[in-house]
Amino acid sequence: MVILEPTVLNRVAKPGRYTGQEWNSVRKDPSSVDLTFALAFPDVYEVGMSNLGLKILYHILNQRQDTLAERVYAPWVDMEDEMRRSGMPLYTLETFRPVREIDAFGFTLQYEMSYSNILNMLDLAGIPLLSSQRSEEYPIIIGGGPCAFNAEPLVDFFDCFVLGESEESIEEIADCLIRWKRGRKQGGKPALLRELAGIDGVYVPSFYEVSYHLDGTISWIEPLQPEAKPRIVKRIVKDLDQAPFPTHPVLPYLEIVHDRIMLELFRGCTRGCRFCQAGTIYRPVRERRPKTLRRLAQEIVDSTGYNEMSLISLSSADYSCLRDLVSALQADMSAQQVSVSLPSLRIDSFSVELANQLQKVRKSGLTFAPEAGTQRLRDVINKGVTEENLEEAVRSAFQAGWSSVKLYFMIGLPTETEEDVRGIARLAYRVLDIYKEVKGRRGATVNVSISSFVPKPHTPFQWFGQNSIEMIEEKQALLKSLLKDKNISLHWHDAPVSFMEGVFARGDRKLGRVLMEAWQRGAKYDGWSEHFKYDVWLAAFEAAGVDPHFYANRERQAGEVLPWDHLSTGVDKAFMYREYEKALEEQGTVDCRRGQCGVCGVCPGLGVAVVDWEGANA
Ligand code: SF4
Repeated sequence: MVILEPTVLNRVAKPGRYTGQEWNSVRKDPSSVDLTFALAFPDVYEVGMSNLGLKILYHILNQRQDTLAERVYAPWVDMEDEMRRSGMPLYTLETFRPVREIDAFGFTLQYEMSYSNILNMLDLAGIPLLSSQRSEEYPIIIGGGPCAFNAEPLVDFFDCFVLGESEESIEEIADCLIRWKRGRKQGGKPALLRELAGIDGVYVPSFYEVSYHLDGTISWIEPLQPEAKPRIVKRIVKDLDQAPFPTHPVLPYLEIVHDRIMLELFRGCTRGCRFCQAGTIYRPVRERRPKTLRRLAQEIVDSTGYNEMSLISLSSADYSCLRDLVSALQADMSAQQVSVSLPSLRIDSFSVELANQLQKVRKSGLTFAPEAGTQRLRDVINKGVTEENLEEAVRSAFQAGWSSVKLYFMIGLPTETEEDVRGIARLAYRVLDIYKEVKGRRGATVNVSISSFVPKPHTPFQWFGQNSIEMIEEKQALLKSLLKDKNISLHWHDAPVSFMEGVFARGDRKLGRVLMEAWQRGAKYDGWSEHFKYDVWLAAFEAAGVDPHFYANRERQAGEVLPWDHLSTGVDKAFMYREYEKALEEQGTVDCRRGQCGVCGVCPGLGVAVVDWEGANA
């Protein structure tokens, strides 16, 4: 057991990140269970504690009598220095045991720029980084989450990955690990990996060989073992209403990013925005029943005492019974003084009306995401909103008393021209004008937030060559020159970070060497601008003999084998390519939930259907 000295805690910022013992955290005697599992988020505590996926897995695993699940987050740099100086290994927050002594160490992979933190955490735990160097005496290292859908840059370090929603597969994995332990680990790690590869949705990368053409593109990806399936298809929860949901979440002692109840209304989104990876990997839409949500909400309020609840999903305003649900929840919660909020809003007046209902008193800023500055480009990305929608929504917001609006855009989208970039500035000024039309005076503030588009695997834009850093910086400079009004503020992401994100998002196995080089040269917390060291990454690419532009900026050919072709979301590649072609022709695709099925392949392929409670007495 690791002893946490008060002198160490005195020297680091936010010691509460490291002390555990929070309300609702689960404490079991490790010797009383058959399996110990560490659930890791490769970023700081405040970010990791806000992740719903890990809360769900913590709940499922700890409900089992035979398993103990504990949490692990990346120590901030000050704590890491203390740990390295005193030889303190990475430990779990529940029992303070070194992670090295745990049976399974599972990471959620949310963001490419946290990959260097994974290596750092393995090293801090005293676990060899390369899976090939780890015997069965070490924990089995598992990855899951969105980035597992292109796990290739990480395959050197992980033993296996879990694709898709793991409510069911995590139990099968736990059973498998327990069987193997009870059998005295017979056959060693290879035997365990063969068993794991037999579980649907589990990818054991060492069982596959990748061959390359001379130009660096992939010629084929082939399984080497009989247990390894040619294609690993994601797992999905067919009936979300019945799925386990954590009603006793761990309550932090310090403020975390989402410090409130997170009530998940539904999974999936069928609007089909062509840049959005979540829109593919969580298909199709599956809603929870309103009555289930009300029950869950009450249970969580009772177990936590939180006075704020956020209704989350990929686009909460699309929940089919939202108006009734919000009214019912407000009625349920009013006595306990719990406020209900929607984190994201679609651009229409309905959303503003709802926001108005939700924020009776506090009129904090409203956020809208037109994503692109012109209708032409919004058609390319299939955003499905018009300038009139935005104008109406902003007008209703100003009429209802708001005076501050945040607008999200991307630059670097396929087919983008200077006119599209200028369109962003034009829209921002239009919002100021609308305020003047409504109120008869100036006084609105507009925050324009610009991210650089990063093409993601499993999206229709996965073939697109990402804009170079120079192109992005030119567009940023143009916007800066256009947005001079003191009531408009402009924020953007650093182009080199988006470039590196783009490299790893669509990378292949050759990037493992680069990652190792970069980590050895000091890369960590790359998602935090104060820690991102672009020169370290460039040196790592140079040392590994890998060209980053090959991954980020190259347009892929239609028939090219992509590094993630053997990892399936259930959506057909041919459908994706049709969508890419339609994008280039500026043609839209309707929402399959209300309109016609777009034949993406998910529902028949996975034996699942859209679940929507509109009109049902649910
Ligand atoms: S198969 Fe059809 S209904 Fe199902 S998610 Fe795909 S497009 Fe939508």
